[in-house]
Amino acid sequence: MSDTGQAHEMTPHRMFEIAGITTFASLEIWLVYRLVQASSSTESIVTLVLGALTGYVAADFGSGLAHWAFDRYGTEQTPVVGQNFIKPFREHHVEPKGMTRHDFVETNGNNCIATAPIVAAGLTVDLTSQHGLFIAMFCASISLFVFGTNQFHKWSHEDRLPGWVKFLQNAHIILGIKHHDVHHTPPFDKYYCITSGLLNPLLLKIQFFPRMEALIFRLTGVRAGQSDAEYVAARKST
Ligand SMILES: [Zn+2]
Ligand SMILES: [Zn+2]
Repeated sequence: MSDTGQAHEMTPHRMFEIAGITTFASLEIWLVYRLVQASSSTESIVTLVLGALTGYVAADFGSGLAHWAFDRYGTEQTPVVGQNFIKPFREHHVEPKGMTRHDFVETNGNNCIATAPIVAAGLTVDLTSQHGLFIAMFCASISLFVFGTNQFHKWSHEDRLPGWVKFLQNAHIILGIKHHDVHHTPPFDKYYCITSGLLNPLLLKIQFFPRMEALIFRLTGVRAGQSDAEYVAARKST
C-alpha cells in the first residue's frame, strides 16, 4: 500500500494496471463512439437508454455478489483470490479509510483489466439490429460502472470531496456515504452493493444474501461469515 502523493515503484503489476486502464479507456471510447453513430432513430435511442440502465443495475448487483462472496467465504490463505481479493475486503472492515490512500492506478487498475474484455466483446456486436444495440450498450454500461465501482466506494470513505461527486452521491447515482455506513456496521452482513447501492434495500428486504448462504450451507455444509468475524476480532485485539 502506498500513500497518495508518494512516488510509486514501477512494478510489473503497476505497469499491467496502467496498460489495463489505457486499454479499457481506449476501447470504451471507441464503443461509445460506435453507439452514438448507430443511434439514428427514436427507437434506437430508447434501446440504448434501456441497455445503459440494465448495465447500471447489473453492475451494482455484480458488485454486491463479489463483495458478499469475498466478505463471507474463504480466508487470506485461499488459493488465487485469498491475497488479492479476500484480504483487502477483510482489511477494509478493520480500517475503512485505508483505501482512501490508494492512488488512481491502484484504485482502478484491476477493475479495468477485468472489464476490458467485456468492452472488447461489445465491439464485436453487429449494431444494425435493436437486439445488437442493446447488447453493445449493455457491455459499455456495465463495464463503465464496474470500472467506477472502486472509485465510488473510495469516495464513500473520503472526508473531502468535490461538489460534483457529492451531488452524484446525494442523487443516489453513485454509492452514498451514509448508505454505505450501513455495511460498515458490525457484523458487516448487509448492503454489499457498492456501485450505486440501488439494489441494497431490495436485496435486504427479500433476504437475498442470507437465503444464498442458507442454500450454500444446505448444499455444501460450508457456513458463511466465520472467517471474517474471526479476522476482525483478531485484528482488534492486537
Ligand atoms: Zn465488506
Ligand atoms: Zn467500505
